[in-house]
Amino acid sequence: MKATRLLLSATALAVEFGIHNSLVGHIKFGKRLPRCERAPKPKPVVNWRERLWRHISPEPMSGCWLWTASETQFGYGQINYKRRPERAYRLAWLLYRGEIPRGALVCHKCDNPPCCNPDHLFLGTHQDNCDDRERKGRSRPPLGERHAHARLTAADVLRIRALAGTRTLESLAEEYGVWNSTIYRAQSGKIWKHLPGATRTP
Ligand SMILES: [Zn+2]
Repeated sequence: MKATRLLLSATALAVEFGIHNSLVGHIKFGKRLPRCERAPKPKPVVNWRERLWRHISPEPMSGCWLWTASETQFGYGQINYKRRPERAYRLAWLLYRGEIPRGALVCHKCDNPPCCNPDHLFLGTHQDNCDDRERKGRSRPPLGERHAHARLTAADVLRIRALAGTRTLESLAEEYGVWNSTIYRAQSGKIWKHLPGATRTP
């Protein structure tokens, strides 16, 4: 049967199998199939939730899901999502809540930039985001004061680290008059790296 097939002309085989003449030659002589005829490579399925959680450390007291990998200068987590840099908390929203409508912002209820807990996030407009900051009295301080080192002393950082796990980020932030993220960064060793007692080594 095979021999008979080989004796048939390329045209006859092409008609029989409903393929192009040139493809018959490719198959007959064991050549590599042209790109369009090859089965498409299955795309690897990325488990984005799992990927997000590789860099999240939940903070039991506040319930914040703290981002521990790369972050922006303002402490927002960054992750490469579909070949583009994306904010980690925005990706958390996409994965756990769904689409972010055009023009909408994902804002933090907890005012903690590294937090990715969707329960601590809400969809708002740019105005909402500003109003929320104003209401909480946490408008961004002038640049000079924004730097954590300007507010905390080495002794403060040592005490803050010693209290890790026994006090919430919020209560410490309140006490020292700094952002929650500053407390988090001091505790985790992202700032004041030269001092001992950081909860995680960078
Ligand atoms: Zn939070």
